[in-house]
Amino acid sequence: HEPVPTEWTRTTCPYCGVGCKLEVGVAGDRIVATRPVIDAPSNKGHLCVKGRYAHGYVDAADRITVPKVRHDGRWRSTDWAEAITLAADGLRRVAAEHGPDAIGVLGSSRATNEENYLTQKFARVVIGTNNVDCCARVCHTPSAAALKHMLGTGVATNSFDDIEQAKTLLVVGANPLENHPVVGARIRQQAQRGAHLIVIDPRRTGLARIADVHLAPRPGTNVPLLNSLAHVLFAEDLVDRDFLAARVEGVEGLAAFMAPWTPERATQLSGVPADAIRRAARLYALERPAMALHGLGLTEHLQGTQGVMALIDLALLTGNLGRAGSGINPLRGQNNVQGAAVMGCDPGTLTGSVRLVDACQRFEAAWGVALPHKPGLNAVTMIDAAHAGKLKALYVIGYDIFASLANADVTAMALSKLDLVIVQDMFLNETANSFGHVFLPVVSSFEKDGTFMNSERRIQRVRRAVAPRGDSLSDAEVLCRLAGELGFGDQFRHTCAEAVWDEIRAVWPAVAGISYGRSSRHGLQWPCVDEYDPGTAVLHARRFANADKAKLEQVDYRPTTECTSEQYPFLLTTGRTLHHFNVGTMTGRTRQQLLRPTDTLDMHPYDAGQLDLRDDMPVRVESRHGEVVLPLRVSDAVAPGQLFATFHDPARMLNRLTGPVRDTVTSAPEYKVVAVRVRLA
Ligand code: SF4
Repeated sequence: HEPVPTEWTRTTCPYCGVGCKLEVGVAGDRIVATRPVIDAPSNKGHLCVKGRYAHGYVDAADRITVPKVRHDGRWRSTDWAEAITLAADGLRRVAAEHGPDAIGVLGSSRATNEENYLTQKFARVVIGTNNVDCCARVCHTPSAAALKHMLGTGVATNSFDDIEQAKTLLVVGANPLENHPVVGARIRQQAQRGAHLIVIDPRRTGLARIADVHLAPRPGTNVPLLNSLAHVLFAEDLVDRDFLAARVEGVEGLAAFMAPWTPERATQLSGVPADAIRRAARLYALERPAMALHGLGLTEHLQGTQGVMALIDLALLTGNLGRAGSGINPLRGQNNVQGAAVMGCDPGTLTGSVRLVDACQRFEAAWGVALPHKPGLNAVTMIDAAHAGKLKALYVIGYDIFASLANADVTAMALSKLDLVIVQDMFLNETANSFGHVFLPVVSSFEKDGTFMNSERRIQRVRRAVAPRGDSLSDAEVLCRLAGELGFGDQFRHTCAEAVWDEIRAVWPAVAGISYGRSSRHGLQWPCVDEYDPGTAVLHARRFANADKAKLEQVDYRPTTECTSEQYPFLLTTGRTLHHFNVGTMTGRTRQQLLRPTDTLDMHPYDAGQLDLRDDMPVRVESRHGEVVLPLRVSDAVAPGQLFATFHDPARMLNRLTGPVRDTVTSAPEYKVVAVRVRLA
């Protein structure tokens, strides 16, 4: 029995990008309960099982609350003075011997906007490199790239409240009932109220089971399927002529390009029946407004960015943009992954997603130092550079890059070549355990102040509910101490999170109107340019961010090289489940672990029968890149010939299976298509 809370603090859920507002109940400086904020726009009084119960990691037995350094392979506890000196000396040495571009810095989607702003400022001002990135690289950078290129702003166009305005909901490569449960429930309720639901997903997810139309493409064939939907829009004159004339360029060219993309051709490539494609196209075009929400099943592919572009084409052709209940809406996996990237943890852009070439001078004036102008390495190409001996040091904040990146054995080889790995986290994660030299312990989001940015561009407050554990500091405090040690104390003299936020407002006009005071209750959606601006629920209502007219993209299909063969007859996709979060650093240390203690492999009953396999049998899964052993779950959620596995359990290290194929534009790894074979372990 937990004690009764004596104090409640309003803050934001530390997990997914829905960004539910919750209140933390504290007794004797321990978190003993959470409850939803009833009138919060993002969650309207609901929380999922993670937001409600998964806070035990804050006081987990193996939490590290003193700095550590490693000598001869063994960790030794130390104090902050020595840890900061060693980290600073190491960075200084690498920069002196190999230049600043031999150092990489990774920000964290679990850290606040303020901390990510300081992270990229640290990389650029203190180290002098644009080698700075975050885990958005491996999930929604394709969404950001496609949206920015076509519409001028790389973020969701609409709001969660638009779900209840939509007559049709198009869910592409996402399983929100498990991964964004509060939004998933809103989608299901809207479908139950009579809205049409179209789901594009290889698996029969919970939403696919209740959909009007479920299109289940073979993994890796999103582009031909989306192109065939565009073909139907032209062939059956379902396009919105008025919208196109007023707001879109390139219509005739796209019509000619799509002419050969018949549903029958898409059927051959994707396996989706042609009549289902026609039905989906008609619903999306005629039952408007239609709102598209997509996940990593669209982005984590060789053609991740192109897949999102093909989806944006559909929205433009049908006029499903710039109005309530419509739009293109990436469902962000982690609470502040969008914030981390938009704050500037990106090798090619500064705070506000402005390109280096356009904004370096402005930021040099604001920060008072010369900045590097050449775009840097991203998280994936940093690993390539480490492999090649060009990157020598990595400073990783709140991101278990070893467990998270695809092709884990190759990642391990690269990380083992580094002269210096500084890990800043709450736990000795897999990266720290295997490759760390200095460990800097930091607090959870329940122990500090700041803001997160959710999937609908809402800046929401994060508030300290309990005291920092042990000697741990906030990421911001560590960054400021390290910057001071390296001689840049003047640029990092922030006394509190609000002071950092006010600096962000000064350099990024789109959030100038969002003060801590104004965002105190429900947060505000940017753009919000001054204190009278109520924020923006729907983007592109009058014009696109970069132009009056959007340009359609002709996306040709390029098949992935990750193909089945006689040796590797199954296609595996990887993903998350309801009870856990990413590589399990947090949920693996909560009672969620009792509900789902291990990763699993889902296989269709037909295939299980052919291989004489049954539920819970241990099976060896082998790809061209590595192997893991997993317990089997026989499930009709996957199609025959396809498999699904989760990646939450570091002991299994599922990313040993995933390979080197990447999105051609952003380098996001192709987690969603892996050719494998399976046998009894
Ligand atoms: Fe937290 Fe997402 Fe669940 Fe909301 S839906 S409680 S933000 S994990």
